[in-house]
Amino acid sequence: MSAGIAVIGGGMSGMAAAILLAQAGKQVVLLERQERIGKKLLLTGNGRCNISNTVMGTSFYRTEYPEKLAEILAYCTSETELAFWNRLGMEVREIKGGLYPMTNQAATALDCLRFRIEELGIEVRTETYVEQIRGNKGNFRILYRQPDGARQSEDGFAAVLLCCGGLAGVYKEREQNGYLITKEMHHTVRKGHPALVPVTCAEDMKAIAGVRVQAKISLFCREKLIASDEGELQLNKDGISGIPVFQLTRYLDDLKDAVFEVDFLPYLEEASLSEILYKRYDAMRERSLEQFFAGWLQRKLTLYLLKRSGIKADKCVEAVSLKQLNRLVSEMKHCRFTPTALGDYRQAQVSVGGIPLSEVSGTMESLKIPGIYITGEMLDVTGACGGYNLHFALACAFAAVSGIIG
Ligand SMILES: Cc1cc2nc3c(=O)[nH]c(=O)nc-3n(C[C@H](O)[C@H](O)[C@H](O)COP(=O)(O)OP(=O)(O)OC[C@H]3O[C@@H](n4cnc5c(N)ncnc54)[C@H](O)[C@@H]3O)c2cc1C
Repeated sequence: MSAGIAVIGGGMSGMAAAILLAQAGKQVVLLERQERIGKKLLLTGNGRCNISNTVMGTSFYRTEYPEKLAEILAYCTSETELAFWNRLGMEVREIKGGLYPMTNQAATALDCLRFRIEELGIEVRTETYVEQIRGNKGNFRILYRQPDGARQSEDGFAAVLLCCGGLAGVYKEREQNGYLITKEMHHTVRKGHPALVPVTCAEDMKAIAGVRVQAKISLFCREKLIASDEGELQLNKDGISGIPVFQLTRYLDDLKDAVFEVDFLPYLEEASLSEILYKRYDAMRERSLEQFFAGWLQRKLTLYLLKRSGIKADKCVEAVSLKQLNRLVSEMKHCRFTPTALGDYRQAQVSVGGIPLSEVSGTMESLKIPGIYITGEMLDVTGACGGYNLHFALACAFAAVSGIIG
């Protein structure tokens, strides 16, 4: 008979919650289905682990419940967060607003979490796949499966934290996760999609593959603007990628009738662009189109945009009609790509969907089963790139622990 608290899932929110609970004097057991805790953390931020951001707020998250989210985020201010990492021995540094371990290595964050877990004597059981939770607040029973397939159970847990993550990432056993546990508790699990992923497009992009360019990208659905972002766009042979594309995939619920519009020259108003083009046109009439654009646009991009505008690249400038020139301006400012598929969950950094925030309290307690706490990516809150998802996971841990210890 255990009298402690069970934390299911050794990801960011589970490890942090276990540490905070143990620091508050609670007896904790951390159950993880993989052979090691924190595996996903090593992949974050391209191996650098963007833990948070100096600019924080609900606007960086996709959620229907911004007020509840604000309540949760308030448990983890930047001071609280820095104090948390510092207590673990990790120094943090800022790069363009993003917060990273001083070493710039995700392994550092994981090492510091693991060392603290050991130091606090937290019992960690890996390769323990939790399948069901029974009972009530004060006496929960956990049913789990071990690597040899043997099913076991343990009861007497005062509270259970479900920190099982979403569907994104690299799991060996993706057919089941914490959602099956919460479904049995009559929680809603909203169907979603992979997010912060590359997008496959219908257009033939072979000619432009490999180009990276600063651009503004907007997502339209049935011609209604859904969201925009600016940053380095990557053009691949079968679609588009890069941080601004990733950000918009959080809103790409329906591929049908969706379109991305790229502004390749976001720093220039359309009228100014036309003016520059006309001036250059007058000054360089005898040049070839390729020469006309040299020193201004990347060559591959020039050729691609000319093709899309129906202009032959080997033409001389004066052979281009005003109509064609205007078409070219339009392609430079409103180049459209039709999404046909999102990258899969293995490529995704996060998943849209999950348990609505309306089904937990401001301290992450299930409103269906008191004593159960749900954190992090299991919830239907999707942060932007830039440290917002790890920050949300940590904020949930703080909120849940505050709810438990009062
Ligand atoms: C490639 C990649 C890069 C990313 N980069 C960043 C970044 O730089 N910054 C950022 O803010 N976010 C980043 N993210 C997102 C971020 O990692 C997640 O949002 C965050 O880790 C979610 O934390 P979590 O605790 O909710 O879940 P997770 O970290 O996913 O942890 C869940 C844990 O629960 C375990 N588990 C699940 N079900 C069970 C079960 N039934 N029994 C036992 N254990 C179970 C899993 O094995 C896992 O270890 C990235 C994600 C990926 C995939």
